[in-house]
Amino acid sequence: MSETIYRGSCLCQGIQYEIHGAIGDLVECHCQRCRKANGSAYAVNAPIRVADFKILQGEHLLKKYQSTATTQRCFCSECGSPIISVKAETPDLYRLRIGTLDTPLQQKPTMHIFAASKAEWDDICDALPQYAERP
Ligand SMILES: [Zn+2]
Ligand SMILES: [Zn+2]
Repeated sequence: MSETIYRGSCLCQGIQYEIHGAIGDLVECHCQRCRKANGSAYAVNAPIRVADFKILQGEHLLKKYQSTATTQRCFCSECGSPIISVKAETPDLYRLRIGTLDTPLQQKPTMHIFAASKAEWDDICDALPQYAERP
């Protein structure tokens, strides 16, 4: 059985990781916390299995920020790249920040979530389903 391996890294390349498995549905999240964490209109995140995620280099650089009571955001303490988030409700999954992937990805985004809290200057111009919060 062949296994898909994805590679990714942060902006400064200090953190290098591999994913030995599937990347779940790509979700564009417009919540204010994702906007602030990314300095952008939205974050593009996808679930991956914790067991599939391996940090090859720079684990000591990965800083955790407790964003809500149940969510930790993990980012590079050197360059600030957001890498994954960890939710207490789903301990077997990480939410990968897709923009840090180096391996080309065939998948496309599947939906917009927290569209009700999107930035007022941001227009959603595609036909993907939009959810006020979560589906
Ligand atoms: Zn970095
Ligand atoms: Zn969000």
